[in-house]
Amino acid sequence: MSISRRNLLKGFGLGAMGAVWATSWSQNLLRADNHAPVKPAASAFYRTTVGAFQVTILQDGATNLDQSLFAVNAAPEAVDAALMANNLPTGPQSATLNIALIETADRKILIDTGLNGIALDANPPNSGKLIPTLELLGIAPADITDVLISHHHPDHVAGLSDTVAPLYPNATYHLSQPEYDFLQTTTGNELADGFIASANALLKPMMDADQVQLFNPEDEVIPGIQAILAAGHTPGHTVFLLNSEGSSLLHLMDTANHAAISLANPDWYMGFDAIPDMAAATRRALLERATNEKLLVSGYHFPFPGIGYISMQGEGGFRFTPA
Ligand SMILES: [Zn+2]
Repeated sequence: MSISRRNLLKGFGLGAMGAVWATSWSQNLLRADNHAPVKPAASAFYRTTVGAFQVTILQDGATNLDQSLFAVNAAPEAVDAALMANNLPTGPQSATLNIALIETADRKILIDTGLNGIALDANPPNSGKLIPTLELLGIAPADITDVLISHHHPDHVAGLSDTVAPLYPNATYHLSQPEYDFLQTTTGNELADGFIASANALLKPMMDADQVQLFNPEDEVIPGIQAILAAGHTPGHTVFLLNSEGSSLLHLMDTANHAAISLANPDWYMGFDAIPDMAAATRRALLERATNEKLLVSGYHFPFPGIGYISMQGEGGFRFTPA
């Protein structure tokens, strides 16, 4: 499926809400003095192993989004039913920001970097807990060797830098070639172009310092960590498959943004899915793979710590069971 401007615009049909975000989010992201203005307390973390890798999920924070945003093309009653089937309240949904820290023999790797305390709207920010929590674990930002970037949306890249200097000064920042290519374009959509501009501003300090390394879809970016292009949410959205000593973990990133809604019907698309049809096909394919291979999975926005298993449920739907 081609990434046409028409397809792209379809995914950002957020109307007035989108216009508000376009102005407030992008402006807030571009203000260096707005980055983590207050250092929050450390937050929850969850530690497990995948073969020889130590995997720690750290909670940068959470955002609240209207439930309709998670299933733009669904009947509200159907979304209510999906939530109630999982014993979840209807109404605004909390989207957790689960950051994976992977420690190998010689590396400390982060997958995405959270919102870094940026105020997205009139509400006080509930994020920026990643670095305080790393420090609680005895890890300084300078100890991080690699940052893998799944895609360019603010809840994943706001913590890369403060637009002046990288927040992880010694790290190599890994970005997929298709996502990089997309960041060189404009779409004509105010919200999408605001995201592109802010991502470029956040990446600039590392681009200037030659700290960004582009990878190709399906590359083994780091030994034992394979990139898988999962396009649709964004044109270069990438998920990561960890493999070590016969154990594996598939980090779904934003393939499914809500553990109940997005899995109940993978054809329901999220307001931020840039290419909805492609996002849906990618979502179904990865959920089928996780089910068939009984893969341990992780979701960036699944309820903390967001690690578990996928199984089939109902007519073409899926279910997430926490590990
Ligand atoms: Zn996200």
